[in-house]
Amino acid sequence: MTPDLIVLADTVHTMDGQHHGQPVQAVAVSGGLIAAVGSRQEARDWQQTDTRVLDLGNATLTPGLVDCHIHPVFGLDLTIGADLAAATSLDEVLTLLGTEAAHDGGWLRGWGLNPNAFGTVPLHRSVLDGVSGDQPAFIRLFDGHSALANSRALELAGIHGRFEFDQASEVVCDADGVPTGLLLEAAAMELVQRHIPQESFAQRKTRLAGLLGDFARSGLTGGHIMDHSKESTALFQALEADGELPLRLRAAPWCMPGSGEAEWKEMARSIGTGGRRWSIEAIKLFVDGTVDNGTAWLYEPDVHGQSTAPFWPRPEEYSAAIRYFASRGIPTATHAIGDAGVDHVLEALESLRTDVPADVLRRTVHRIEHIETVPDDLVARFKGAGVVASMQPTHCTHYSLADHSDNWSTRLGAQRAERAWRCRDLRDAGVALGIGSDWPIAPYEPLPIIADAQLRRRSGHPEQEPIAPSQALTARQALEGYTSHAAKAAGQWDVSGSITVGKRADFTAFELDPLATGPDEFAASRVLGTFVDGEIQFMLERHA
Ligand SMILES: [Zn+2]
Repeated sequence: MTPDLIVLADTVHTMDGQHHGQPVQAVAVSGGLIAAVGSRQEARDWQQTDTRVLDLGNATLTPGLVDCHIHPVFGLDLTIGADLAAATSLDEVLTLLGTEAAHDGGWLRGWGLNPNAFGTVPLHRSVLDGVSGDQPAFIRLFDGHSALANSRALELAGIHGRFEFDQASEVVCDADGVPTGLLLEAAAMELVQRHIPQESFAQRKTRLAGLLGDFARSGLTGGHIMDHSKESTALFQALEADGELPLRLRAAPWCMPGSGEAEWKEMARSIGTGGRRWSIEAIKLFVDGTVDNGTAWLYEPDVHGQSTAPFWPRPEEYSAAIRYFASRGIPTATHAIGDAGVDHVLEALESLRTDVPADVLRRTVHRIEHIETVPDDLVARFKGAGVVASMQPTHCTHYSLADHSDNWSTRLGAQRAERAWRCRDLRDAGVALGIGSDWPIAPYEPLPIIADAQLRRRSGHPEQEPIAPSQALTARQALEGYTSHAAKAAGQWDVSGSITVGKRADFTAFELDPLATGPDEFAASRVLGTFVDGEIQFMLERHA
């Protein structure tokens, strides 16, 4: 062994579930892979003349953090204009929009709008008209599945009434059939979106480069991207022409309702393509929308009589798509938020056993994203179906409240709101659980997410009451969600997710030990640096 690099740290959590005798405090890297794991004393024997030794002192080293659900490219569209995520009242929303300059072609833009900020005021274009004047305005809601357009924007888009779509999407209209400005799901939003002048490729490339750099500095060495388009390919290729991406990206293009075998074949062909640090490795599907705007798929309607329908008008076509990909050994990830939606995905995956060969099923990971409210019997079916769960603890802690007074809980009613984000029950049932942010739906910084998964409230807010506190993860389970279980959720446990000889040398270094620090303190602490393929992506000064 001729290591290129030896990293020393007082605490190393290998996350490989193995007992190493002495505490591990040294890791050797050769050719981008982990070449040895051991004590500081053993490391002295590994060292060769050319070996670089980096002593991180009292820091903690773990496998690199991977966000299991993130939208860096799609998110470029979702994060234009005023950032409304922090607004908690309608006044704050209007103030932020009032100070926002018009964007491309004179459009007023905003994103991250939490419907709770509107209180009892209906989401209606008239609210925007007051602040936008004659300008067209297009404001995205926080869930990424809905937007509010003003009257001028609807006029420019020629929207004067209801529309028919081949997916569950809606131009919301009042009792007289007049559009309110609320647009639910992609097809409805696209009616307006296509009239907004697009940023140039160069602008988007610059923004994406900045974003990926921010991801790396937050401690991420990887991300499971839950979208992919031709433009994504062009952007990643352009970035890799300039140098290495600062983190490893696994992308999943969308398979949408209305598509058939011709499109699926094309998507299947893209699997495995990519560049040095990015590749297309899975297919993303949606079986429903969101609870927050009444497009989830629930057994029983919400208090407004909504959230009753699947995203695929004929859900058997969704099942056929799953079968098409699964039988070819292609991993899938399905967005399923409501109980009926999760049930349908589980059923589709369970039914594969009748005719998809067992070895193909065993080596192909299928996962369900979000899983916001499910009864006991659905939790119990995950393990048997061999399904991986992928969840976002901060969707719970940022957008719902323990007293059920928020939009999500109110819509569901107390019983279903009590079943909020059952992370712990899924872990206790033996299910692999990957954790992520779903940025830009919620902030991407992993430390507060790891903390919130343990606290079931926002870190740094001890005054808040925890939400369904029995669903709290242990510190180790939360860290596993970003490391070992993230690797399992990508079908990459054989090459990543733990500090084990032969695996990729992707690490994150922390100021404080994630397994031995109170979650509030940990959330506010610093990431010292990251490594991808044994190469430093960034390192704070004190360890330079
Ligand atoms: Zn998402």
